[in-house]
Amino acid sequence: MNIHEYQAKELLAKFGVPVPAGYAAMSAEEAVAAMKKLPGPLYVVKAQIHAGGRGKGKFKELPPEAKGGVRLAKTEQEVREAANEMLGNTLVTVQTGEAGKQVQRLYITDGVDIEKEFYLALLVNRATGRISFVASTEGGMDIETVAHDSPEKIHTIDVDPATGFMPHHGRSVAAALELEGDLAKQAAKVASTLYAAFLGTDAAQIEINPLAVTGDKQLMVLDAKVGFDSNAMFRHKDLAELRDLTEEDPMEIEASKYDLAYIKLDGDIGCMVNGAGLAMATMDIIKLNGMFPANFLDVGGGANTEKVTAAFKIILSDPAVKGILVNIFGGIMKCDVIAEGIVAAAKEVNLSVPLVVRLEGTNVQQGKDILANSGLPIVPANDLGDAAQKIVAEVKKAA
Ligand code: GDP
Ligand code: MG
Repeated sequence: MNIHEYQAKELLAKFGVPVPAGYAAMSAEEAVAAMKKLPGPLYVVKAQIHAGGRGKGKFKELPPEAKGGVRLAKTEQEVREAANEMLGNTLVTVQTGEAGKQVQRLYITDGVDIEKEFYLALLVNRATGRISFVASTEGGMDIETVAHDSPEKIHTIDVDPATGFMPHHGRSVAAALELEGDLAKQAAKVASTLYAAFLGTDAAQIEINPLAVTGDKQLMVLDAKVGFDSNAMFRHKDLAELRDLTEEDPMEIEASKYDLAYIKLDGDIGCMVNGAGLAMATMDIIKLNGMFPANFLDVGGGANTEKVTAAFKIILSDPAVKGILVNIFGGIMKCDVIAEGIVAAAKEVNLSVPLVVRLEGTNVQQGKDILANSGLPIVPANDLGDAAQKIVAEVKKAA
């Protein structure tokens, strides 16, 4: 689960991370009111979307020479203009994809005089099984580009969970940022507070870009991207409330209501599978047969008619879907129960695209009989390879 920059900064500030003062705003009036609470003389008006690269982004509705989603302003007039140009418009950045994201919230912050920009992130390093700092002197720019062009400028510092954060980790971060004296001390402090925030919130990532040295030699977090481990949100009710559903895919939100693991993809074949591994295998074999999956969908071990119906509706609400492949292994669940669910769901949603079903496991024959006697044009398949070939053939035939 991701949150907005302003939420991330408010959260990090509670852990003692240095951030400039700022206020969220939903309208130009609120933006001006926010500005008046700040000391000035410089203000930053920032679009709040769940994507980076806002500064270099472009608004669809504005001419190409217009400024992006991070603007410096000196007067009330400039703040108002920036707010009016951004709110309601669609910001396209390297991270949003072509469709862009509509800006509904702004963050008005105290403008900082920047002397140097760094990159500092915390993430779960799967290679080492540790929480790691990633630090680079090349801040303010796209870190993927730095990683590609000059990987030697990116330093990774692992923290052993048995010791937790130690002073030497702080010194290593400061050294990676090539800081000395008081700034090195500040960097060590920032690293330790970020680590505490990471652990304390069950974060999955905290990315600070830029971490800036200000004109008066203070380290400040100017941009923060924070994401949490969704599986830990049950123990952070306060953080769960920060979720902004307008930033998420509507189909994925619907799926989460039914506890279905659904991820929208770009292909044509809707998939309904039980078990994440089987779902991955199903997607692979669809690709092997020359087409692409429209989604990942794991209905879970205990899927009932209600879940199966919800899953069908979600798959069919995607206009890209040209056919559906159901691949269910009845282990805990019995195949006849699943077959009844599929038939009921297919009738309820008025199935309009080819449907291939592969069932295996307990009571498989009863399940197949239910599908065969349903009166619906369901194509049965014997195994996964057969199922993938059949759905691709059916979709091509229908085209
Ligand atoms: P992003 O483009 O989505 O990563 O948004 P950022 O918050 O990182 O802002 C982009 C760039 O705007 C930063 O790298 C800075 O160069 C600049 N910027 C952000 N805040 C300030 C500020 O307070 N003062 C100045 N001078 N520049 C800022
Ligand atoms: Mg940034």
